[in-house]
Amino acid sequence: MTLGLRLRQPVYLAAGLVVVVCFMMLFFSSLREMGLRRDALKAAEIDVTNLAQSLVQHAEDSFEMADSLVVGLVHRLEAEGTGPVATARLQSDINFRKGAMGRVRALFVYDDKGRWLATSENVDLNAFNNSDREYFKQHRASNDLGLLIGRPIRSRSGGQWIIPASRRFNNPDGSFAGVVLATIDASYFADFYKRFDLGPSGVVTMLEKSGIVLARSIDNEKSVGRDLSNSGLIKDMHGRPTASVYYFQSTFDESWRLSFYKMSDRFPIIILATEARDEVLAPWRREAMFRMALVLVLISLIGGAGFYLVRQLLERQRIATVLAAKEADFRLLAEESSDMVMRIAFDERILYVSPACLRIVGWSAEQLRGTPALAGVNPEDLPHVQKTVEELKAGEVEEAKVIYRTRHRSGGEIWLESALRATRDVATGRISGVVAISRDMTERKGLEDKLATLARQDGLTGLANRRHFDEKLQEEWRRAAGDETPLSLLMVDVDNFKKFNDQYGHQAGDACLKAVAKAISAEARRPADLAARYGGEEFVLLLPNTDEVGCASVAARLRESLVALNMPHALNPPTKRVTFSAGGATGWPGADSANNHPSLVAAADRALYAAKHAGRDRFVMSGRVVAWRGAESA
Ligand code: GH3
Ligand code: MG
Ligand code: MG
Repeated sequence: MTLGLRLRQPVYLAAGLVVVVCFMMLFFSSLREMGLRRDALKAAEIDVTNLAQSLVQHAEDSFEMADSLVVGLVHRLEAEGTGPVATARLQSDINFRKGAMGRVRALFVYDDKGRWLATSENVDLNAFNNSDREYFKQHRASNDLGLLIGRPIRSRSGGQWIIPASRRFNNPDGSFAGVVLATIDASYFADFYKRFDLGPSGVVTMLEKSGIVLARSIDNEKSVGRDLSNSGLIKDMHGRPTASVYYFQSTFDESWRLSFYKMSDRFPIIILATEARDEVLAPWRREAMFRMALVLVLISLIGGAGFYLVRQLLERQRIATVLAAKEADFRLLAEESSDMVMRIAFDERILYVSPACLRIVGWSAEQLRGTPALAGVNPEDLPHVQKTVEELKAGEVEEAKVIYRTRHRSGGEIWLESALRATRDVATGRISGVVAISRDMTERKGLEDKLATLARQDGLTGLANRRHFDEKLQEEWRRAAGDETPLSLLMVDVDNFKKFNDQYGHQAGDACLKAVAKAISAEARRPADLAARYGGEEFVLLLPNTDEVGCASVAARLRESLVALNMPHALNPPTKRVTFSAGGATGWPGADSANNHPSLVAAADRALYAAKHAGRDRFVMSGRVVAWRGAESA
């Protein structure tokens, strides 16, 4: 568990790092975008502030202009009164000025009853009475001689929205004498405001101090006269500075607005310049969206790459853990095994050898590592072992078993049995070497050899047994056929042996057979010669590369040695010594008679029979008889 955690820690670190980097990128990008957003708003605030300030100036100039006309007329009326002459002169004076009134649309003079005394408009003065107008009532009720900017009204003379700017004039006794009125068209301001670009939803509004709309750059006709005294701006105006940036939700279309208002300090008017916040932020939003998209793409790339790498890392760790466990298992198996486990590289050097090597070959694993694997193999066994290894490396066989001798560190030689298997590279699948599991089989080998010998030996005499003889005969027959050499067989049978047993006892019989066997064995002089007990008291002597003459001379020598033994046999007349009869045969096997070895035995057997028949104690060569005491024919 702790091992797993320790292994995984760097992975979690990497994953955490990726998350932190992505988060930081997102965080700093957002921070930057918020900064840019603030900058965009700030720039727009400065724009509207500048605009509102100049528009206040413009409005003040306009009302100043109107007021100077009004003030001039008030002075004149108060000085000259409203008599017919004075009024006529006033009218002509107004007519004279008409062309030079600029943004002031019209001038009106009303008497104390609201009757029209003079005007710049071309109308019949007697057709109207303005005593019902708000400003008229206000002037009549109040002693204030200052300029009154009133609620916009529909012009009686022109029908358009007009903004009234008026003053009262008095009789010499100070009583109300009438009103002088100058009007400016609301559309004059509206048209002027339209020249400034505040975006599609940007608006400039001129308000009377109490919240009445005097002019508006958009929808002027519908907006003029609207009472905004309940709007947040006007309601809380007392606590506010006379000029400020102001954010609010529009009562016209409910969108958020960025605005600047400024109150005139000379006239009761407020200029409000607003822009839609969304429009101000639109360019920023477009660019920010693009930039954030880029950042998100980058983040997803980094995140994706990080995720992929972390997964790879985890997978690698998983494999490493599995491999480590496997390796541990393998080591445990290899190192605890009583067999010597060895991994051999393609160049036949030892990559790994288990500790059992110390016990088996006497060298430690450290000493063997890196050395040639086949270094100690007995030169006689080396070709076979080398060939097996080559076959494994060539992929001709997947596994093999070899038994061979190898040097032990102590100087002796041991028998090893190795199970070999080709190893393959996990990645390429190509053969990378060989793994060998070797077992010391010296003891077993000795036992096996002993058994093999026993299986081929006659228990009583120590000569080769019948089976061994049969094998050897077949082998030598073939060889003789190949070499085109003669092969002779001498068949020997002790004479009247049954009677020997009867006379001297079975044990003496055995001893006699041993003595005869020894004599026969002594005649097998060449390495290839084989003396064997054919059965009972019958022996054979196989004589490769020996012709009839040679065979006969061996028989003669054998007889001599038996005579020399001088073993008594009372019931074997006439010598009353142990004698034997022998049959010899010589074969010249050819290619056509390669399997015809039984014929040699049959011929020797016939010759032996002939020797017995002829009276015993003699030798018959197949086809002719060689008597010890002169020749006899078979
Ligand atoms: P011949 O001269 O015709 O060969 O007469 P023989 O008595 O030797 O021949 P036969 O084949 O009749 O007898 C062989 C005898 O050899 C029979 C058996 O008692 C004896 N014999 C065979 N094997 C052994 C053996 O291992 N030990 C002893 N003591 N006697 C054996
Ligand atoms: Mg016999
Ligand atoms: Mg016999």
